[in-house]
Amino acid sequence: MVRDPAEPTGPEVVSPPAGDAPRPPSLSPSRAADFKTCPLLFRFRTIDRLPEQPTPDQVRGTLVHAVLEHLFDLPAADRTPERAAELVSPQWERLLAEQADLADLFAPDADLTPAEFLASATDLLSGYFAMEDPRRLEPAQRETLIESVIGDGLLIRGYVDRLDVSPAGDMRVVDYKTGGAPREAFEARALFQLKFYALVLWRIHGVVPRVLRLLYLRDTEVCDYSPDADELLRFERNLLALWQAIERATQTGDFRPKPSRLCGWCAHQAHCPEYGGTPPPYPGTADRPGALLPAGEEVPGAE
Ligand code: SF4
Repeated sequence: MVRDPAEPTGPEVVSPPAGDAPRPPSLSPSRAADFKTCPLLFRFRTIDRLPEQPTPDQVRGTLVHAVLEHLFDLPAADRTPERAAELVSPQWERLLAEQADLADLFAPDADLTPAEFLASATDLLSGYFAMEDPRRLEPAQRETLIESVIGDGLLIRGYVDRLDVSPAGDMRVVDYKTGGAPREAFEARALFQLKFYALVLWRIHGVVPRVLRLLYLRDTEVCDYSPDADELLRFERNLLALWQAIERATQTGDFRPKPSRLCGWCAHQAHCPEYGGTPPPYPGTADRPGALLPAGEEVPGAE
């Protein structure tokens, strides 16, 4: 994840503990949502760490997020659809340099050519410009890791795509959605993610973000939501209860499959009993179950 050192300063981001101090267990919105969706999926991703081949939609999403992040490096007047389109190839080259196996998307038998892939990313950027005029925006933060500790020491953290702060100090959390999955199946997950960020920001700054905004680039739809403090308190309680459930499951190794229509997008059906598969042996040890859980691990938030 690339941070731009020249980006405008905004609300302070909490730094992780320095030195060799043990990090508390941490939870990202993606992993929390995994456990809510299906505990077995959480296990496969977080404990077994089974590899997942990124889909073209996911890689396209990463590319579009990178372009939108760097678009704001340009002077305001230059943030046009044409200049955004010009950023697509260089950002793709940069991603390929960081992760060469992304080129596997274009294996000889693949449906997609590099030119079609880059053109489809540019199409999504057109959707962005149909909703916002970035010449009128100066984000306070882009692709920024935010984190805070809640309860008895649970570190909650994630990357926000963009944080806007008004002159009056009102915060707006913005999340770009590029996926092509059915909206209804992912709407709740997206809102969960934004409430998660709102809770982190509230705990950092003592101020509830005014607006949580989802920008659906493919459908050119803006979805705004305004949380309040009572709601975030309930969300925090639920998150702590969810963490207790994760800890219990980790101690016992009891991660049950929870089939839903999201199974259609699950990369682990071959290991899932619901699909006739067998999970790998549980790597847990009864004396150190906590060692299996993520501690201080950065989990990029773009989905
Ligand atoms: S296929 Fe469905 S039930 Fe099985 S692990 Fe994946 S999400 Fe869970």
